[in-house]
Amino acid sequence: MDKNFAEVSVLLCQSCGQHWLRYFYEQEAFTASGRWYLGAVAPEQSLTLTAENAGGVLEGLDWYFYGGSYYHGQVGRTSGRILL
Ligand SMILES: [Zn+2]
Repeated sequence: MDKNFAEVSVLLCQSCGQHWLRYFYEQEAFTASGRWYLGAVAPEQSLTLTAENAGGVLEGLDWYFYGGSYYHGQVGRTSGRILL
């Protein structure tokens, strides 16, 4: 977890070997506040990933997926700042 208490994990695609950085954040006191961000990272990037730099790594990607109850269950692509 990082300073925002977001859950950070790195997933490895079993079929193509792509590494994905997953960043999940929610405010438990608020309904529909859950949001996740998922971005493709290079294997070298995944080695230096920490909970603290994960948000910045996502924001540095050309694009990443977003979704979750905060987005009313919609999934899309975006770039730039992640919304907390
Ligand atoms: Zn894959």
